[in-house]
Amino acid sequence: CGIVGYVGAEDAAEFLVDGLRRLEYRGYDSAGVAIAGDDQIRITRSVGRIQSLADRLGAPPEGTLGLGHTRWATHGPATEENAHPHVGGDGEVVLVHNGVIENYQVLKDGLIEKGYTFKSLTDSEVIAHLIAEGLENTPEIDGQPHARYVTAVQWAIAQLRGTYGLGILFRDKPNFMIAARFGSPLVLGVGRGENFIASDASPLAGRTDRIVFLADHQLAVLTAEGFSVLHRDSGKVRVNIQPLEADA
Ligand code: GLU
Repeated sequence: CGIVGYVGAEDAAEFLVDGLRRLEYRGYDSAGVAIAGDDQIRITRSVGRIQSLADRLGAPPEGTLGLGHTRWATHGPATEENAHPHVGGDGEVVLVHNGVIENYQVLKDGLIEKGYTFKSLTDSEVIAHLIAEGLENTPEIDGQPHARYVTAVQWAIAQLRGTYGLGILFRDKPNFMIAARFGSPLVLGVGRGENFIASDASPLAGRTDRIVFLADHQLAVLTAEGFSVLHRDSGKVRVNIQPLEADA
């Protein structure tokens, strides 16, 4: 239902929890955050209010890269196991998803046959494992630190039927995230030394006044220093940075 993401120099948890609160008005049944630190991504999830997630986070794990999600369950009941973020492969991919994957069952059957184990009943977990499979099949490219990850995401989402807004982290690369959209809204917030994603602009107000609306079939790579937008099937795309009106 809602997505927030942060990459920058400050503690991610603060923006994520505050951002999820600002998305509460959309309704949800459970929520979660993932915060990337040294060689691991810590995931905290909770059924019910953002406040119970915040209570569970306590002193939140330190990290300057992270994702948050509010879930409105479509596949699988509102349980902690089904709450996002979800993990792909052996934990190398962590993802939040808004939307519905119509062909998830056939994709899931194929992944189980290849040895991937599912921990939830969601359609979303399929995407995380598909990206992990894409990583298996894609080598690192010298001098292009994001290319392998972008290729794996492009490969995975090309197989999806349905709608998605995605925020994706990689355990071994705790310095960038990838966002992608088809049919579910996603906005980039352009900051100075920090960048954001959100499923609508409300979490960004007061944090940045420059936004980019991601279009269908686009994906974005965000680091603390900058961002680039690509088409799902091709290369870089030029985008317009728009002002975020103060009363948006
Ligand atoms: N279809 C996904 C699920 O059931 C995502 C739902 C959402 O957009 O919150 O977990």
